[in-house]
Amino acid sequence: MGERLEPEGRDAQRARDLALSARIIDGKAVAAAMRARLAQQIARLAFRPGLAVVLVGDDPASAVYVRNKDLAAAQAGIAVQTWRLPQDTAEAVLLAQIARLNADPELDGILVQLPLPPQIRTQAVLEAVDPARDVDGFHPMNIGRLAAGNPSLIPCTPLGIMRLLQAAGIPLAGARALVIGRSAIVGRPLVSLLLGANATVTVAHSHTRDLAAECRRAEVLVAAAGQPELVRGDWVRAGATVIDVGINRLADGRLAGDVAFAECAAVAGAITPVPGGVGPMTIACLLENTLTAALRRRGTEGVA
Ligand code: NAP
Repeated sequence: MGERLEPEGRDAQRARDLALSARIIDGKAVAAAMRARLAQQIARLAFRPGLAVVLVGDDPASAVYVRNKDLAAAQAGIAVQTWRLPQDTAEAVLLAQIARLNADPELDGILVQLPLPPQIRTQAVLEAVDPARDVDGFHPMNIGRLAAGNPSLIPCTPLGIMRLLQAAGIPLAGARALVIGRSAIVGRPLVSLLLGANATVTVAHSHTRDLAAECRRAEVLVAAAGQPELVRGDWVRAGATVIDVGINRLADGRLAGDVAFAECAAVAGAITPVPGGVGPMTIACLLENTLTAALRRRGTEGVA
């Protein structure tokens, strides 16, 4: 990998002169293949994995996410139950509901859609879910295991990014990786996963002094900042792999990633689009986590 990479300015300029264009990593296709494979594995089981999805309130984006999760789970052969609770639900009521779900032996996965209404403490809810069925991977026990290098159930978006890198054949051992963003759901768990894959990992955030320079060093660049088109073409090292996690709705209604796609695709070796990159992988990984939890609870091997 290192041999292809030369000092940024000259290299990037040459890439532009040659009008090199990146291979597009098709997350939609990778996710579809994963979902088909998971459906086959589930069809061969002697039982049907069960998943409970809890939605509190009437946030329209959350309602869409929950509907998509229900549909994908049902298509994979998972017995999915959706619990819809009103916006003014008290924290104690939600915790009692989670306790009932934890006591249901038919359930292999339990997830509570975020964000929650302000009267409910998110952390209390995440800690109430049985860690063995925490298919979002947000319970402190699962976060701790991942941080210690001994992952159990892994948050779906970073797991999806790793699956995408694997499917695209991107070498990670020894590679210089930069993660922009340090959130609990994307950046931090991804750092642990990339370290586990033996990359040399740097994390950037809003206090990072020279983000462009950090980006130019990266052979694998993951942008999860929630800032439309933050990463510019002249920040990208020629031949680098660029993974765009961002989903940003612009004032004119268009969807934009955290990466200026056309500029970066002219320089990168491989790049994910938005939409159709990381997004579809997140749901596929929720299904994978549900099957993993189901097999582990029954003392069977997890999904490789
Ligand atoms: P978040 O909680 O808002 O975290 C954003 C992170 O980016 C923070 O660590 C922040 O730094 C950093 N950041 C913000 N602006 C920056 C800048 N100008 N330079 C460097 N770092 C900067 O966001 P998130 O939940 O991780 O989500 C990130 C993006 O991914 C969003 O667009 C979200 O919609 C998208 N997303 C997509 C999926 C999917 O399925 N594809 C799933 C989850 C999220 P500080 O820590 O210093 O504030």
